Amino acid sequence: MKPKRHARNGEFHHKHSLGQNFIEDEALLEQLAELSLVTPEDSVLEIGPGFGALTRPLSARCRRIISLEIDDTLLPILRVALEKCENAEVVLGDVMKTDLAALVREKLGDGPLRVAANLPYYITTDVLTKLLTELPQARSIAVMIQKEVGDKLLSQPGEDGYGPLAILCQYLCEVRRALDVPAACFTPPPKVDSSFMVLERRDAPLCSVHDEALFMKLIRGAFVMRRKTLVNNLMSAFSLSREEASACIDRAGLPAQVRAEALSIEELARLCNEISGLQASTDRI
Ligand code: SAM
Repeated sequence: MKPKRHARNGEFHHKHSLGQNFIEDEALLEQLAELSLVTPEDSVLEIGPGFGALTRPLSARCRRIISLEIDDTLLPILRVALEKCENAEVVLGDVMKTDLAALVREKLGDGPLRVAANLPYYITTDVLTKLLTELPQARSIAVMIQKEVGDKLLSQPGEDGYGPLAILCQYLCEVRRALDVPAACFTPPPKVDSSFMVLERRDAPLCSVHDEALFMKLIRGAFVMRRKTLVNNLMSAFSLSREEASACIDRAGLPAQVRAEALSIEELARLCNEISGLQASTDRI
């Protein structure tokens, strides 16, 4: 890709492979920082600061901010961009290989935490899953993602895109689309439009699940073969006989031939509790 000349940062070769679509519009950046719900008592973890454009307005609103960036060629630019932000620190690393709980403990302590990011789109699903599972203390996760993935996060049973990610997000958080952002607002513009989504952690998950690890296994396993009925997916995910899988479905009050995509989160939770009941009674799975 041709290097772009930036008013502040000279020539920089954006790396498409790292999802480097930057935002330069100061008014938009202020708006995103505002929508991130950050208050002076909060610590912030930012993923992918790029040139530090979103880091600055976030830093002005929070107690302390750690920004995790994979691209070491951005470090000299970030040093200059953030020199007046005394509460900001950049950490070099790959979010997917970083122990986020340990990073937050070491750098930010145990005060209130929020996450904010204009995410690299090539790892959206994996990063969201990691943030939700590794940082349960984060009060909110405010992220720029592809509009289509934003639709997915809001999707309901029977709708396109309803699956493990939507269920995990809605089970743990109130999910809102805070702003639609056209591709033209980025440099270079990505191929798709974006949405800034805000996930506010619920005080307690949407419904009661006896074994949360089993619930995670269920929401992944139930959707593995979308064309197959739930009973088939349960048999392979949990090594159940057809009779055992059917009995769990029946005891959860669900139709025998149902597919996972038709089930609400509450119904999946009921099913999960039946499977853990079976697990307890047969001491396996
Ligand atoms: N925050 C900046 C902005 O809004 O202009 C840049 C956002 S850009 C969409 C994504 C950023 O994430 C880039 O700086 C990129 O280098 C960084 N990034 C990509 N993959 C990453 C990874 N695995 N871990 C940490 N940062 C990553």
